Amino acid sequence: MWHLAQSRSAYYSLAIVDKLPVVCASRESRAALTRRARQIDRLLAEAFPGAHCELDFSNPFQLLVATALSAQTTDKQVNSVTPELFLRFPDAHHLAEADLAELEKTIRPVGFYRQKAKALQGIGRGLIEHFDSRVPCSLAELVTLPGVGRKTANVVLGNAFGVPGFAVDTHVTRVSNRLGWVKSSDPVAIESQLTALFPDNLWTMASHRLIFQGRYVCHARRPACDQCPVASLCPSAYRFDPPKTRSTSGTRQPAE
Ligand code: SF4
Repeated sequence: MWHLAQSRSAYYSLAIVDKLPVVCASRESRAALTRRARQIDRLLAEAFPGAHCELDFSNPFQLLVATALSAQTTDKQVNSVTPELFLRFPDAHHLAEADLAELEKTIRPVGFYRQKAKALQGIGRGLIEHFDSRVPCSLAELVTLPGVGRKTANVVLGNAFGVPGFAVDTHVTRVSNRLGWVKSSDPVAIESQLTALFPDNLWTMASHRLIFQGRYVCHARRPACDQCPVASLCPSAYRFDPPKTRSTSGTRQPAE
């Protein structure tokens, strides 16, 4: 195994050589990929038995609002503003008629607060105009609301209604590519490929487990492959070098 270790990133110690993967994702048959994906999901279920939606909510409206706020920020940050937000704007009518300045002030800590305040007001108005002020429980209806894309819709479906939904966020995108389950940066294509790998009763939890894996192990800049429960099944294991430079250019935009 020494030659394998030498061909991989030099900064990893020989202690991890036993965990080096035996997977070549490019030559994998469809059936083998499905088997491996489900095996990984089972291992992630053992590693993260408490994987769940980390946004605080007590009804579909609150989850819809919290998820809309979660773009480009952490669930913890969203949870820090939602108690006051839900108190001041408890339903679609309060959001639709909100004073924008007050709404912006309430959600300011989550960032992009001007765009997000307008988006929340649009959601409130959309719910009143088209859904009798209630949150619809189908993907086709949810995505007609202003600013609501498939990720938000799938989070609401899976966690507020118990309807299977595979939410594809930045963690799911990164981890599913590293695992060799998909080769795409397009969330719609990724969702389509991931939902084909699992039966629909696993979609919501498989998404949570990938999110936990991305948050706590398979970090964007330096994945903790030496602590990863699925390293032996991952074609990307131990292939990442430590980051050398830090980009300071570019303008961030809120993503759905
Ligand atoms: S942490 Fe490493 S081994 Fe685990 S999924 Fe990410 S890249 Fe693969």
